[in-house]
Amino acid sequence: SAKTYADHTATNFVLRYLLGGRFTVGGKLTYRQLNEKVDRMATALYQLGVRKGDRVAVMLPNSPHYIITFFACMRLGAIVVNTNPTYTGRELQHQLHDSGAETIVLLNLFWPRLREVRAETPVKRVIVAHIFDTLGFPSNFLVKSSQKKTPEWVDVMPEQDIFFFQHLLEKYGPTPPKVNLTADEIALFQYTGGTTGLPKAAMLTHRNLVANTVQVAAWLTRGQPGGEKMMAAIPFFHVYGMTVAMLYSIHIGAEIVIVPSPRPIDNVMNVIQHERCTLFPGVPAMYIGIINHPKVNEYDLRSVKACISGSAPLPMDVQEKFGQLTGGRLVEGFGMTEASPVTHCNPVFGERRAGSIGIPLPDTEAKVIDLDTGREIEPGSDETGELCVRGPQVMKGYWQRPDETAKTIDADGWLHTGDIARVDKDGYFYIVDRKKDMINVGGLKVLPRDVEEVLFMHPKVMEAVVVGIPHPQRGDDTVKAFIVPKPGEQPTVEEIKEFCKLHLAPYKVPREVEFRTELPKTLVGKVLRRVLVEEEKAKQK
Ligand code: ATP
Ligand code: MG
Repeated sequence: SAKTYADHTATNFVLRYLLGGRFTVGGKLTYRQLNEKVDRMATALYQLGVRKGDRVAVMLPNSPHYIITFFACMRLGAIVVNTNPTYTGRELQHQLHDSGAETIVLLNLFWPRLREVRAETPVKRVIVAHIFDTLGFPSNFLVKSSQKKTPEWVDVMPEQDIFFFQHLLEKYGPTPPKVNLTADEIALFQYTGGTTGLPKAAMLTHRNLVANTVQVAAWLTRGQPGGEKMMAAIPFFHVYGMTVAMLYSIHIGAEIVIVPSPRPIDNVMNVIQHERCTLFPGVPAMYIGIINHPKVNEYDLRSVKACISGSAPLPMDVQEKFGQLTGGRLVEGFGMTEASPVTHCNPVFGERRAGSIGIPLPDTEAKVIDLDTGREIEPGSDETGELCVRGPQVMKGYWQRPDETAKTIDADGWLHTGDIARVDKDGYFYIVDRKKDMINVGGLKVLPRDVEEVLFMHPKVMEAVVVGIPHPQRGDDTVKAFIVPKPGEQPTVEEIKEFCKLHLAPYKVPREVEFRTELPKTLVGKVLRRVLVEEEKAKQK
């Protein structure tokens, strides 16, 4: 697409929030300029010693730097290791050590995190990026002052192993070596969300990423390419943002409107309004934040035509309200790191079914199997089982974890998702819950989502999550709800329980209800149930 869209805007970096929200500073790059910077960075990495198959850790917020670094690695056949910038030093250490990354590209602000753990990692060279790099003012004071090797940096790394992003772009020409690569070589180590345990690296190949990009486009895009504006607020370092906000945008020649963080949500709303964004992928927490925002009616969000929501269940009510607000279509999709990530989506221009994750993407097979026997469950039956998928987007395996790989991908190539689902007679899939989250109440199975859907119907509830707290003596679980009330509301425990009794069988009604101002979440907005469960277990001791 670089040829067709060469002079279209590729990235539009909006730094409004960082500068206090008063004015917009940022910079635009055309596809031609972006491509040249990618070539320069690829040349630089090669000159620094990065070779095909080497792992390059990337610790950057959404920014042009991220895109440049990512594609520079692709060009060399180096493997990108996406690193979550909110990781603590210890988490970062695990990932650098596990992946064997000898090179890291990081934002100067994240330096302290690396400093803590550098000695226990394989990192040999660091490329320091500054938020104002790539914006086209190389002699700017800000750039210069950020490029001094301060003493704290040098005590971590020998001075000659610290490089600056902007210097590298200026020093090296756009002439990277030609590297022989096949589609089945690894492009990316993507660590799983860590929602249920320690993150594992999914090895995703070039074929996986290209396939998923084209598959997503088939379900989301119609009309002339080149005309869309993508609100890139979900993180690129998470596989969902990487594929849907970055790779898919580039595939369709969209302008990628980049904000460094989805928080605060006012900033995102502001930028959508100013830039007239047409596409806005997100996670439920973002859409919930917008529809409940006290000033929501002061923003004009009607440029938004399509939104895809993934990573966690999207309450139906949120889907409706968001549609009324923007006039656009909010569709729910489903994916997981191991599948690059998208496997299912409601088609934007086809039939959308409420509560469903939609139909499998092109070239994706999906089935639901009985949890005990592994028998395939017929579409249209009320039975539920584990969702399994197969397709060109499914990972090669987990890095250095052959046992985990064998547990996840079977001999016939089916990826076992660990999610409980059912499928209707027309082939629309519905996620019921995660296998690991099922609550056992005296032998009866309670699915947290059934209870959460009821809580979401309550007019005073903004967010709700239901977990099973293991009972120390009885051996089964107690159903507990954590609730964030809507602004200004103060529901009582009794009123919540009464409401649940109207809609749920007695054993599903939460025995305990706790109100909170916020819930612990992963960076992509998934509630960390295990954190809540751990807190409760600690209280029992
Ligand atoms: P870990 O595997 O390390 O515990 P994780 O599974 O949360 O973390 P991801 O790969 O980012 O890491 O998330 C994939 C999971 O997200 C799916 O298996 C599913 O449980 C959940 N998920 C994704 N989309 C949806 C959706 N639309 N509805 C319900 N759950 C979803
Ligand atoms: Mg998982």
